Amino acid sequence: MERIFIGVAWPYANGSLHLGTLAGCLLPGDIFGRYHRMKGNAVLMVSGSDEHGTPITLTAEKEGVEPKEIVDRYHEEHKKNLEELGIHFENFTRTSNEFHKNVVKDFFLRLYDKGYIYPEKMKAFYCENCARFLPDRYVEGICPYCKGKARGDQCEECGKTLEPEEILQPKCKICGGKPTLKETEHLFFKLSAFENKLMEWLKNKHYWRDNVLNFTLNLLKAGLKDRAITRDIEWGVEVPLEGYENKRIYVWFDAVIGYLSASKEWAEKKGMPDEWKKWWMEEAKHYYFLAKDNIPFHTIIWPAMLMAHGGLNLPYDVPANEYLTMSGEQFSKSKGIGIWIPNMLKKFEADVIRYYLSINMPEKHDTDWQWEDFVAKNNNELVAIYGNFIHRVITFASKNFGVVPPYTKGDDLDARTIEEIKNNFEEVGKAIEKCYFKEGIKRIMRMAQIGNQYMNRVEPWKLLKDDEERCKSVIHICLKIVKFLAVASAPYMPKTADKIWKMLGYNDSIHNRKWDEAYEELEENELQKPVPLFNKLNLDDIVEEPFSKLDLRVAKVINVENHPNADKLYVMELDVGELGKRRIVAGIKPWYEKGELIGKKIVLLANLKSAKIRGVLSNGMLLAADDGGKAVLLIANGKEGSRVYIEGIEGKPVKEMEYEEFRKIKMAAKGGKVEYKGKFLRDETGEIKIDGVVKDGSIIR
Ligand SMILES: [Zn+2]
Ligand SMILES: [Zn+2]
Repeated sequence: MERIFIGVAWPYANGSLHLGTLAGCLLPGDIFGRYHRMKGNAVLMVSGSDEHGTPITLTAEKEGVEPKEIVDRYHEEHKKNLEELGIHFENFTRTSNEFHKNVVKDFFLRLYDKGYIYPEKMKAFYCENCARFLPDRYVEGICPYCKGKARGDQCEECGKTLEPEEILQPKCKICGGKPTLKETEHLFFKLSAFENKLMEWLKNKHYWRDNVLNFTLNLLKAGLKDRAITRDIEWGVEVPLEGYENKRIYVWFDAVIGYLSASKEWAEKKGMPDEWKKWWMEEAKHYYFLAKDNIPFHTIIWPAMLMAHGGLNLPYDVPANEYLTMSGEQFSKSKGIGIWIPNMLKKFEADVIRYYLSINMPEKHDTDWQWEDFVAKNNNELVAIYGNFIHRVITFASKNFGVVPPYTKGDDLDARTIEEIKNNFEEVGKAIEKCYFKEGIKRIMRMAQIGNQYMNRVEPWKLLKDDEERCKSVIHICLKIVKFLAVASAPYMPKTADKIWKMLGYNDSIHNRKWDEAYEELEENELQKPVPLFNKLNLDDIVEEPFSKLDLRVAKVINVENHPNADKLYVMELDVGELGKRRIVAGIKPWYEKGELIGKKIVLLANLKSAKIRGVLSNGMLLAADDGGKAVLLIANGKEGSRVYIEGIEGKPVKEMEYEEFRKIKMAAKGGKVEYKGKFLRDETGEIKIDGVVKDGSIIR
């Protein structure tokens, strides 16, 4: 027996889980964990909601609520989704609980006492407008290395961590203003002291994925800088030192310690408070599952922190995944791009999602989520090969024999098929152990294909009359393949595996069985009636017309005022009929006088996520044609509050729409009207007009 620790990167509690997180960390971790539990190894798999940091406080500020409200909401949602997805943790906890905070403080003090944490003055961004320091994500700018978009302390594109003074064209995320650098005192972790130790530690990590090892070595060769571990923020773990009451421990420092605190908490909950030591202080292999943007935290920073602490196990492997993209764009909660897990679970069986992400896992390079491919793999692989084979076998066997028939009369083809089962089974195991999950699931699917071919060749339905003994024998072989599929699929598609297991006449859960049982002889079980494992999907039912998500309404302008903090903005009061009065901020001041706006009926995007624009909350957005930088309003005629739509597109407005999502819906001017996919935007009285002359093709925004 081996001891396996599995740390899965902590999902942020500032929004729903998306497929990127599932493909990048949660699913590979779960497959690995389930496999090792079945192998009889002692697995401790932990993670939790990462509830501190500026993404949380920014979301809270946007919504006008306390950070706690945000994290409570999403932690509960994450837990529920994980359960539905069949992602099993020994402990899935959260960083805002007291237990975690205390472990972090102890860890911090130990490093402080050993001289690895020291105070130093530093320059940090300060926004005069907002009268506050702007910690990491409150600042956006351009990465000096790759010219990509930098979010405070890290570049989104190349993954480099950045010092404040390095960021080009910094902007305050709250007010859009230009922040200045101001001196403040923070505590630093002496990361630079670990360069040689880390290099030494990495010497025998030749089994790591190339991308992970090379990325890490390059960062080390470039030299490590000490890093600030406190922030000017109120939400987070308190600094356990005097004089730092207004600062909190920086989220990255607190979140990685979560691996340790979650282990300790698990032991505590089990009533064996020292049990965690078996994984952290005795021999155990530590694996960490995460997506590539998280590599430096797990291959440099966390190992250095562990070295500084002393006496705790370092990572054994960090099989980080590349990105899952959506039509080429990276999934990201903060950018509002993604396919949200709660929506996916409403539409699809968890195992179908798990299958597609396993066979399309971004292990060596980015992979793309494509709906056509998702539907094709479901229909052509899960339904037509895998599900079909199992269904054929179980139906035939249960109808004709009722129980697993004995194997008495074989031939060469049988011998070769049994050899295939053995080989493929070994290969699946090896692939999972090396974290090549895609390879493993491909082997499983190949075995289902071999099963179908075998059945087609031996034609048991013909043998039934002529040679019952032989018929029983070939069905026995087929059932062996079914058993293989159940066991080998258990880490990948846990619910499906359990269904197959029940059909094979076992009463217990397959997840309590051992991996090597796939080799063992079949028992003379009573077979159960087959249940369909997968259903065909239809692409048209899945792909939603993005336009249908919009809630466009006729709105009458009833009042217009200058924005208190911005030259080009108006604050407008609108009458939106059944939706009541709405206040929005609009950038049309350079082109419209207040007087000419009053009484106009315009088109309002009513379900755009509310946002503070220069300090004023805007509940929606008016639509205008953008004619080379000039804004020209769309003019409606219908009753206030009535819908604006495209004929033939059913309106299914979402509750809240992100601006990024809206931007992808390409409406354009055509002959003074608004066109979308060959049809005109209209309200109850006719087509929507543009308030002036604009070029055809001017986009609507
Ligand atoms: Zn960059
Ligand atoms: Zn500001």
